[in-house]
Amino acid sequence: MSGSDFEAARLTVRLGAVNANFRACRHMCGPAAVAGVVKAEAYGMGMIPVARSLAAIGCDTFFVARLEEGVKLRPEVPEARIFVLDGAQPDAVPALVGHRLTPVLNSLAEVAAWSAAARTLRTDLDAAVHIDTGMNRLGLPGAELAVLAAESKTRLAGLRVVLWMSHLACAEDPQARMNRIQLDRFHTALAMLPAAPASFASSAGIMLGKDYAFDMVRPGVGLYGGNPQPSRPNPFATVAVLTGRILQMRHIEPGESAGYGATFRPTRPSVLATCGLGYTDGLMRALAGRGFGAIDGKRVPVAGRVSMDLITLDVTDAPSAKVGGDVEFIGDHIALEEIAAASGTASYEILTSLARRVPRHYEGAP
Ligand SMILES: *Cc1c(COP(=O)(O)O)cnc(C)c1O
Repeated sequence: MSGSDFEAARLTVRLGAVNANFRACRHMCGPAAVAGVVKAEAYGMGMIPVARSLAAIGCDTFFVARLEEGVKLRPEVPEARIFVLDGAQPDAVPALVGHRLTPVLNSLAEVAAWSAAARTLRTDLDAAVHIDTGMNRLGLPGAELAVLAAESKTRLAGLRVVLWMSHLACAEDPQARMNRIQLDRFHTALAMLPAAPASFASSAGIMLGKDYAFDMVRPGVGLYGGNPQPSRPNPFATVAVLTGRILQMRHIEPGESAGYGATFRPTRPSVLATCGLGYTDGLMRALAGRGFGAIDGKRVPVAGRVSMDLITLDVTDAPSAKVGGDVEFIGDHIALEEIAAASGTASYEILTSLARRVPRHYEGAP
């Protein structure tokens, strides 16, 4: 952090809640193991502090997306298994080996590249293999699965498959037929392949029940307090608390306006408060006319457009608003899902849009 004590905005990250959410996953899925998905800087919460916190309560397996994320994480959790979802493109192989990262192999070509590396190094290499059961994004498609199953001895030479993996497309909707269809396909695939632990469920999959848990679950957004199935109550505790300081207040009268485009035009004498957070920081412009903050638990609407560095609120009905006071934008009074809905996006994008410029404060760090 900078040398100054003044902060216009802050993101408080409750590591105790991350740990509680991890334990909740264990509870829901036991005896399946729980891995921590910490890609994208742990969804904006900070990969290193989150991984340390989880490691301290016994999380020994992490998933990242990028190779560079795995390289950065490795020294922090020297004993842990780190899976890299991007897989093993040929030019990634040396770094994967060098940093003891386990690729999630997404195609026969990657299986071949990793097997070739094992041969060159005269050793066995661990791997996860991703079977595509309908996402059509990454993973072996049906035709490649058939080849792998028929030729598993040769294709997997030198490889220790430590995880067969697949990923659900529609788990956020517990009613979606696609969930069962993918589950059946995954069972069929596993029956064709040599025995190894299996992993299917991310956060929303965990909420589909134990049929979906297999040997390991891979929660991301739930660890960070997001509600994986927004149609149901959130089983996870709030992690991210985003607040902005009121920098200035003023009265305006009917006939006046506020902000860019002069879009806020009150019909009553109004009190406005402007906070040091804007769209640069992750409060999206789409919040204009739809978003709100909370002052001492009282909701106050966004007044006019969101600026780059500032947001203005109509605090006429919040008598405790004062210069220097805090406004909550995400936290105990405004759920991630609410700001996501008002922003026209998902909780995932809200979390990962929180800018580096917003100082992070960690509560409950081990
Ligand atoms: C991101 C990701 C996860 C975690 O998903 P959440 O919905 O955040 O729990 C799990 N598995 C894969 C393959 C992913 O890409």
